[in-house]
Amino acid sequence: MNRKRWKQRQALSARLLQPLLPLCSRELDALLSQILTAYFPEQTVAPPIYFGRTATLAYIEDVASGRCAIWMHYALNDPATPDYVFAHVLKHELLHTRIRPREENGVWLDHPREFWEEERRISEDDRGRACKWIADKFQDALRRDSEHECIWVNHRRMKALLHSRHCAEQEIEHMRVAASMGPLELRFGFPRKPTAHPGHPPALDLVAHRDRLP
Ligand SMILES: [Zn+2]
Repeated sequence: MNRKRWKQRQALSARLLQPLLPLCSRELDALLSQILTAYFPEQTVAPPIYFGRTATLAYIEDVASGRCAIWMHYALNDPATPDYVFAHVLKHELLHTRIRPREENGVWLDHPREFWEEERRISEDDRGRACKWIADKFQDALRRDSEHECIWVNHRRMKALLHSRHCAEQEIEHMRVAASMGPLELRFGFPRKPTAHPGHPPALDLVAHRDRLP
């Protein structure tokens, strides 16, 4: 695929994208505003962040227009996604507004050398662990494309991966509930009987009972 076709495909998928309800928007907005203040003070308006079925893990659109938006794959739309992952992705995408793609020796570079140098500088604390977390969670559904300098998402594999993760989480929840139930409750689903009435702890009941003995 050449660059022109890739851009056409990107534009097409962008038009077909439907943003999903963000599951951690408050935390994400706070993080974005911290990053803008610390590293991108020239960005006076915070770009919106959308989650969707994006072709790559994340990207920033409409940089040239000045009204950019950051898109992330819906796999990251999870309150369990660590802040350092969001921080690294946001810094990377925002850096595209400052260090624009350019041609070097006839080769188009979305990430020129100075881009990676600056990314390493501003995302020093987050870069390594964010890449590790993403690889640990989603490696099977991702494909690094060095020619186009991006990471493609395999939607079929990602769907299967997220489904099995969801099932595993539900299983853990069932086990957690089961561990706090007695054998009868576990087998027949009986509610746990209260061991004492509220306000009448067993020790007091025992004392009162003994007092009534002849
Ligand atoms: Zn990039």
